[in-house]
Amino acid sequence: MKKIGFIGLGVMGRPMAKNLLKAGYSLVVYDIVAAGMNDLIAAGARAGSSPKDVASQSEVVITMLPNSPEVRQAILGKDGVIEGIQPGAVVVDMSSIAPLASREVFARLAEKNISMIDAPVSGGEPKAINGTLAIMVGGPEKTFLAVKDILAAMGSSVTHVGEIGSGNITKLANQIIVALNIAAVAEALVLATKAGVDPEKVYQAIRGGLAGSTVMDAKVPMMLKRDFKPGFRIDLHIKDMMNALDTAHELGVPIPLSSQILEIMQALKVEGKARDDHSGLVQFYEKLAKIEVRK
Ligand code: NAD
Repeated sequence: MKKIGFIGLGVMGRPMAKNLLKAGYSLVVYDIVAAGMNDLIAAGARAGSSPKDVASQSEVVITMLPNSPEVRQAILGKDGVIEGIQPGAVVVDMSSIAPLASREVFARLAEKNISMIDAPVSGGEPKAINGTLAIMVGGPEKTFLAVKDILAAMGSSVTHVGEIGSGNITKLANQIIVALNIAAVAEALVLATKAGVDPEKVYQAIRGGLAGSTVMDAKVPMMLKRDFKPGFRIDLHIKDMMNALDTAHELGVPIPLSSQILEIMQALKVEGKARDDHSGLVQFYEKLAKIEVRK
């Protein structure tokens, strides 16, 4: 079995790395924060001292970091993966970052004859824990096939969608659909509540119809309980919507609804709610309508 290095042990990286240990892979791990490292070492992983050190001991290096700057830093920066990686090894970036950044990192690694795929995920912490993430992959097919078994230990659906950056284009599409869906659900439930109809009954009445969705089933119970513990933080979704807007503008694609949702998220950030789960978007509508959606 291939030796794996795992960099970025946050909400998502921790359970994903643990699933690799459970599947029998040997793991060397690194994070700039001690908490994630300690958790993984207790679960049986070895500690690396830098991304370079992790890469020098690994055949496959996985990164699960917040955004493009952190991925550039960990892979291309000082003591980065690129300084330690062995010939024939593969980089798998599972972070959600700008597709153009994936292409740039790929090109820099290619100068050293190292291959890379971008493989962002959807499903959030619960699916990371269960090993049932949806994984969308961009990059050379040969590289994808070489690491497919490893991805399958973390996800129940692993789809190769195209060349490098395609995984992150797919993830941006996913994030637009999720954000707009949460906003639609929030807008509708605030209206129903102010009209005097029980929002839980509205949810139960419509969830089996055309308006029902995975987003509705995951997020409405959180809105009703007013449980905005993440999950997926608003600040991470802001990052995804900014990447979506940058990418869309470069391609000449207007995305007007996405820009509105981004501003709603920015308003919540100003209110000190950047670390709330993105279901907390409902609070924006509640403030406008002066009513709370609750059980
Ligand atoms: P997180 O902030 O919880 O974890 C990121 C980890 O990276 C942290 O532990 C941090 O210390 C570490 N880190 C930052 N810079 C580093 C560096 N230079 N070197 C080493 N470690 C570094 O974020 P998360 O929720 O785990 O998300 C990770 C990625 O997955 C993001 O791109 C996010 O958009 C995406 N994602 C998250 C979810 C979710 O529900 N949380 C779902 C799907 C995709």
